[in-house]
Order: sequence, then structure tokens, then C-alpha cells
Amino acid sequence: MQVVARVLTLLGQALERVLTGRSEFRFTTSEFQQTPSVNDPIQARMVLKQVQAELEQGFGLRLQEPVLLDLERPPVRGWKAAVAGPEAHIGRYAPRWLGERRVHRIMIVPGLGRSRFRAVLAHELVHAWQAEKGVLRRSRGLREGMARWVEYHVLLRAGLQAEARRLFRLRRFLLGRSWRDILEHERLHGRQATVEWLRTLDGGGSPGDSRGD
Ligand SMILES: [Zn+2]
Repeated sequence: MQVVARVLTLLGQALERVLTGRSEFRFTTSEFQQTPSVNDPIQARMVLKQVQAELEQGFGLRLQEPVLLDLERPPVRGWKAAVAGPEAHIGRYAPRWLGERRVHRIMIVPGLGRSRFRAVLAHELVHAWQAEKGVLRRSRGLREGMARWVEYHVLLRAGLQAEARRLFRLRRFLLGRSWRDILEHERLHGRQATVEWLRTLDGGGSPGDSRGD
């Protein structure tokens, strides 16, 4: 696909140069709607809009602050590097402050399959929502559990049952139980009630501390 896009770009530039004497022609892979993986920022922005709509409709999670989405391998530092599984190197949320204004910065490794990309992006957007609304400030385990719970549903909705089950089986220290509790709460009370429960669980204080998950 990269080669095809390159060839088409060169052809387009040559043609444009002949017709106009200069060239600003660019043909990007984003024009192929069916590309299997997410490799460029234009594709990424399109998927971001879709996933934000899915989170709003499916979970009532809506962000006010802007999202900056970068396709790059997230750094894993400190103690996390020692205990992190491969999935920790796939996506990361880190708030960035421009003076008083916060931008939700999300890094996702380029080249993920489209469905996997959607699920990872949904996970990181949940962390952005938690930070913006000041939800679950005191419980890293529940913050991660909630993000995995949403990721799980996005995978299921995309028809990736095997991936979703793999996620369900993951046992990580601090993280394993929380999201099973969340799933159980959803089974008993429904999805919207589960989001409300998480929202009020350990709010406390004002939103706006900076952290990354
Ligand atoms: Zn997370």
C-alpha cells in the first residue's frame, strides 16, 4: 500500500507539474477506506471521531478538552518498564498543559490493525475522561479496570471475541480484580448505572491533577 501511494503521488505530481508548472499534489493512504492498519495521522483522526462517538453513545463519556493523538511508540519508564506487559507499550495517555489549558495527549504505536487500534484508543480516551472529570483519582486499579472494561466492549462490538477473552484473562497485579468487579456490577445493574457508580465512587477533590496511565 505504501508503494502504491508513493507511485500515485509521483504520478500525480508529474501530471500536475505538466499542467500547472508546479506541484502540491499529495496522495495519502487515507483515501483507502479499507486499509487494514492505522499508519497515518489522517486515518487516526477519522477513527478518533468514530470512537469518541461510540464512547458517548455507548457509555455517556464525553470530553470537553481537545485530544492530541500521536502515532508513535509510547515510552515506558521507571517501575512500569519492569512489570509492563507488551500491551503497555502499545498505548499511553498523558495530559499536557499549555498554560492553564489541558490537552489530552494520546500516543499509540503505528501499524495496529484497525479494530485493535479502536480498542486501544477507547482505553486511552477513558483515561482522558477520568482525568478531565476527576473520576477515580485515588484508585489506579479502578481507573485501569474501567478503561479495560470499555476496551473489552469495544473489542466485542468489533466482533473480536478472541481478543476480548484474552483481555478478560489478563491478570496483572493491581489490575486483575477491579474490572471483573466492574463487569459484575454491569451484569447486575446495567451499563449506565455502572458508569454512574464509577463516577461517584471516589471522586473527591477537584479535577485537574496530572498523571498518566
Ligand atoms: Zn490504562
